[in-house]
Amino acid sequence: MDTGDFYCDDVLSGKVVVKKVIETETVLAFHHTRPSYQVHIVVIPKRHTLDLLTLSEEDPALLAQLHSVVTEVVRQVMRDFGACRLTTNFGFFQQTKHLHWHVYFSDDMQGTAQTLPGSAEHKPPE
Ligand SMILES: [Zn+2]
Repeated sequence: MDTGDFYCDDVLSGKVVVKKVIETETVLAFHHTRPSYQVHIVVIPKRHTLDLLTLSEEDPALLAQLHSVVTEVVRQVMRDFGACRLTTNFGFFQQTKHLHWHVYFSDDMQGTAQTLPGSAEHKPPE
């Protein structure tokens, strides 16, 4: 099925070989092919779906399976590195139009923690 996205066309088809972290019948977690961080893992449902909102509406069972794998990946990164971030994008923030979570960690993110919204030390702009 050519849906015109990297995960369906290249990763799930096997055209691009990825380093798998966890694979279940419905979900795949693998190391990003062009990582932006020291640890950068992508978690995707094997079935094409646009984003988290779409999946929540269409397939709560798959959402639960995806959540289970994401949680396990976070657990592994936490165990190995002691911190991580988890993001998924929507709309024009989302480059690849197939739901994916990023689980990532980098040593140099420690210095940025205080400036991120949502962190305990966040200060509003003056
Ligand atoms: Zn897709």
